[in-house]
Amino acid sequence: MITDIEKFIVHPDDQVSDVLDCINASAEGIAILVDSEGHFVRTVTDGDIRRLLLRERSLDITISSLGTSDSVTCQVDATVQQVLEIMDQYQIDHVPVLDKELHPVGLHVRREVDRVIFLSTPHIGDIEHEFVMEAFADNWIAPLGPNVDAFERELADYVGVADAAATNSGTAALHLALVLLGVSTGDTVFCSSFTFIATANPIIYQGGRPVFIDSEPESWNMSPVALERALHAADREGKIPKAVIVANIYGQSADYDRILAICNEWSIPVIEDAAESLGATYKGKKSGSLGTIGAFSFNGNKIITTSGGGMIVSNNEKLVQRARFLSTQASEPKPYYEHHVAGYNYRMSNVLAGIGRGQLRVLDSRVDSRRKIFDTYRRDLSDLPIKWMPEPESCYSTRWLSVFTTESESTDVTPENIIKFLQRNNIEARRTWLPMHRQPLFKGCEYYSHDDRSISDSLFEHGVCLPSGSNMTADQLDRVIESVKAIFDK
Ligand SMILES: *Cc1c(COP(=O)(O)O)cnc(C)c1O
Repeated sequence: MITDIEKFIVHPDDQVSDVLDCINASAEGIAILVDSEGHFVRTVTDGDIRRLLLRERSLDITISSLGTSDSVTCQVDATVQQVLEIMDQYQIDHVPVLDKELHPVGLHVRREVDRVIFLSTPHIGDIEHEFVMEAFADNWIAPLGPNVDAFERELADYVGVADAAATNSGTAALHLALVLLGVSTGDTVFCSSFTFIATANPIIYQGGRPVFIDSEPESWNMSPVALERALHAADREGKIPKAVIVANIYGQSADYDRILAICNEWSIPVIEDAAESLGATYKGKKSGSLGTIGAFSFNGNKIITTSGGGMIVSNNEKLVQRARFLSTQASEPKPYYEHHVAGYNYRMSNVLAGIGRGQLRVLDSRVDSRRKIFDTYRRDLSDLPIKWMPEPESCYSTRWLSVFTTESESTDVTPENIIKFLQRNNIEARRTWLPMHRQPLFKGCEYYSHDDRSISDSLFEHGVCLPSGSNMTADQLDRVIESVKAIFDK
């Protein structure tokens, strides 16, 4: 809603030419006529003026000659949803907002009211630009350079790990992690089932054999109970995994005390897929710092972004050094090109690292914004038959996405209904992940459920992710809330 509406206000004894100036200057094609006490009289469009001029054939008249009309208005507490309905009903693009005394206090504009609200969009801060321009000024456009070195050091400090190596994607970081841990053809790798496909794909790249582990109800992340059962079974078969990949979903850490205790018993390294959980903590420790190796993503939809990129982190500096070596074609330090192993072209560019340095400085404020969005959803939708993703005592979630599940015992509304309805209202919502053990790609792979229930299956059947971008406006948040309410009211 536009609130600085002084520029739209005209008075009965204003000359028509002045009103035309006002309409021109405000750039909305509309003026608001008030009486001597400042009460709303009507809206004035250039069409109204055109008709008045054709009738009067003179510019030398006041706008009071226009007379009154039944202009459509709304109250301050009208929801964005109601405003949109009014606009559609009367085929108009502007609705003045009046207070109780009928003074105009705002103006709704369709362009704003109707704009598509995306699930999670990039949110650039003030200084990314400077770091990027620096790269241009110094001609450090090539991959590697001072921004990459600085971004690695700054991220390692933020997360509280010994070292970090920047990559061109989160997937590349996860792939390097498997290579570093020596995963190769035929090796078993355990992996969270309830996650994005990129967590599991690198197992295939290495010719490994994925075994999928269910979620626990407490954090929605890897179930220590299922993990332990799977490890005992693997032990019996002599197929102890080379690594366990644990994904931290939707901005929240898994329960590492329990997971690490189990993995340590068999001396299995843990890869922490923290692509969605940068900025979160587990028992005060930063997400990504808990496993043997951590991986982050700076893809466009993540909490901070370099438009595309990732980072591999570890307290074992040797592993990170090796990651740097492998990600730059595994070139031996020789005066000519000598290679002993097949490397990759996985390094981040110096230009993009500049964006990352700026983004890192606003990360904590992005976490605050996302958590506030979640709190608003939870408060305003508290009457609905839905359950929000829980946040265990030991976790501080970033609420990267605000996610709920529908309670199928008390409502017929399905995630599919919700997402379709929101889509018709220009709001992007998404289903939760289809678990890996149900992906056609992984048909036939082993899967261990939490107990006699499969938690990840149930989360998929009932889960909905709502728009959660840190740059959402209050009006947009209101629009999502009203739309979700409307589905359950039907
Ligand atoms: C985004 C994401 C990745 C992959 O990161 P990219 O930078 O897009 O390659 C991996 N795992 C999870 C859980 C993700 O959400």
